[in-house]
Amino acid sequence: MSELSTKEVWRAVLGELQLQVPKPTFETWLKRTQGISYDDSTFVVGAPTPFAVEWLERRQYHAIQTIVEKVTQRPLVVQFQVLGNQGPAGSGHYEDGTWEERYWELTDERRPVYTSPARPNLNLRYTFDSFVIGSSNQFAYNAAKAVADAPGDSWNPLFLYSGVGLGKTHLLHAIGHVCASRGKSTRYVTSEQFTNEFISSISTRTTEEFRDRYRSLEVLLIDDVQFLSGKEQTHESFFHTFNDLHASGNQVVISSDRPPHGLTLLEDRLRSRFQWGLTADIQVPDLETRMAILSSKSRDMGVRVDDSILELIAKRVRRSVRDLEGSLNRMVAESQLMNVPITVQNATRILEDARPEDSRQSINPEDILEAVARCYGLTPNVLIARGRTRKVSRARQVAMYLLINELEMSPTQVGRFLGGRDHATIIHGAGKINGEINEDMDLRQEVLDIKEDMFS
Ligand code: ADP
Ligand code: MG
Repeated sequence: MSELSTKEVWRAVLGELQLQVPKPTFETWLKRTQGISYDDSTFVVGAPTPFAVEWLERRQYHAIQTIVEKVTQRPLVVQFQVLGNQGPAGSGHYEDGTWEERYWELTDERRPVYTSPARPNLNLRYTFDSFVIGSSNQFAYNAAKAVADAPGDSWNPLFLYSGVGLGKTHLLHAIGHVCASRGKSTRYVTSEQFTNEFISSISTRTTEEFRDRYRSLEVLLIDDVQFLSGKEQTHESFFHTFNDLHASGNQVVISSDRPPHGLTLLEDRLRSRFQWGLTADIQVPDLETRMAILSSKSRDMGVRVDDSILELIAKRVRRSVRDLEGSLNRMVAESQLMNVPITVQNATRILEDARPEDSRQSINPEDILEAVARCYGLTPNVLIARGRTRKVSRARQVAMYLLINELEMSPTQVGRFLGGRDHATIIHGAGKINGEINEDMDLRQEVLDIKEDMFS
């Protein structure tokens, strides 16, 4: 077996961890770690903050160590270290190489050119070019593009929301790249960073500087605003920042895991301001888009993976693009590790080992029917029966749409399930919702509520 680099080992370990730990844990604590070095006795892992180091030591030591040993096939002690101050603030998420290395590795058309002050802390992989478009994200993509092209002039604020791992952060960075490369002063922060900066500015008595820093921005991208909950003073500060920027025609882009009205921990006045501009959601991608994403990612990784393998992954892993990537990474890592090609057979085994997410949250047609019925205040039976009031028809069409999109049932199967309707009726009904969902905001919200209901 060939010797793996620290980077390769750590990538394989992360791939595995991603499947073992809950997503929020992975996101918060593991995503920004790096493999630093290893020798015969010790594997050194870097984490962005002392707090993260402590947390990982206390909570994940055993899991990480076991996987490191499995991957390297050596008994190793794991050590954690705070990552040095490389690159721009928050650059911990460049998991391999320095910022410069990664920058120059990009092809010319993918390499953003910055004319403006400082290079922003943006992930170079997250650009509009590398974002694969499908009907699930077209709306959000268009909105992000419009905002990037005319910040402050189109929709302000732009509010993006979706479940975890569906591309919000990617789009925020993509907007950032465009704006920064055109000389706009641009800043990307997570709500946690914003909160931390604010709190530390109080303790160091530099709230004025803090304020100026934000007030002078032309584009503020603030990620995961649901984490802004809690501290009243932070809200106050964010509220003023938002108002200052908005009033002077500067662009604010916000992301969240739920729509503005669902942010119940935020003050009303903040919530209502979030709705001044445009709200766009990203849905779970359909099979075709999942395939396209996988093939684009494997191209980026410089590996050739057969379509049948991509299809296998795309069919099993459905809820998040991050999981799709995780599975692909894992497969590539394992095949490099064991020095074997990826075949359908070992791909299946790898996916099975990984407990496919669908076995964790398997939903069946009845769940969908019930969730739809609940949303419209009907009973499931009414949806199967022949009634044709407007409300019932709409609910039934939504059910058709979800059965096809979420469970990948064929129109014939759906027809049979819905009391023996023919497949043309199903195609028509599901198609109608598919067509309207990008224009009709109420419908969009209904479908989202139903999905949330189904998966909660
Ligand atoms: P979120 O912020 O919504 O949780 P991210 O933006 O972090 O999700 O996306 C998770 C991963 O999936 C990232 O690596 C991102 O590049 C990738 N991703 C998500 N959507 C797409 C897409 N449409 N095309 C390509 N990559 C995507
Ligand atoms: Mg994100």
